[in-house]
Amino acid sequence: MSQTQIYLLDTYRGEITTRILSSGKEGARPWIALEDNIFHPQGGGQPSDRGWIGTIPVVAQRLPTIADLVLVTAADDTAQTALAHLTEGTTVTATIDLPQRLANAALHTAGHLINATAGRRGLTYAGCNHFPGQARVEFQPSGPVDSAAIQRDIESAIRDLIADDRPVHASASGDGPRTLVIDGLCEDSCAGTHVARLGLLSDFQIRSVKVKGDRVRVGYDVAHAGLVA
Ligand SMILES: [Zn+2]
Repeated sequence: MSQTQIYLLDTYRGEITTRILSSGKEGARPWIALEDNIFHPQGGGQPSDRGWIGTIPVVAQRLPTIADLVLVTAADDTAQTALAHLTEGTTVTATIDLPQRLANAALHTAGHLINATAGRRGLTYAGCNHFPGQARVEFQPSGPVDSAAIQRDIESAIRDLIADDRPVHASASGDGPRTLVIDGLCEDSCAGTHVARLGLLSDFQIRSVKVKGDRVRVGYDVAHAGLVA
């Protein structure tokens, strides 16, 4: 039986009751894999989801040796002992830290907006990091860089997009790869989590535009509406 990636279908699904598809150990560290998986593993610049299996604190992870499954591993030593007792076929309730998930989804979605708006200003995507407090997208410029103009242009364009409240669609695939579509703006291949509509992004700002070597680094902050920071 294969694992269904619920997190790719619904960013806002915070809890699920499902069975353990598989379990094992990587060295001394136990892991389990859920049949219906709601945990996003680190990737595409976005950090791993944290959460709980029952009351056991856990964090999502992928291992190169088990690449087709998203695993759940213990968040601390005590949890490691408890997780090791869970075996294949057991029904469990899994919960993610939903405020953390939504904060990450907001940062990641805004990364798409920065990429799309910067691309129209002669900047070519070169890398990203969507971790809270250090979120940035990096570009290679095609000519001289006017940092103040880039900051002003991108910030203004993205504020307009957020005010426009455009819907954010991901193609309905539980297995990926899938396409992320923001109407009239971008179609990107992506396995991250996204907000449902751009109007759910709040407090967006470009933190800085810096030139580092041959790259332009656009730092930014954004939150998910309705969450207390
Ligand atoms: Zn994405």
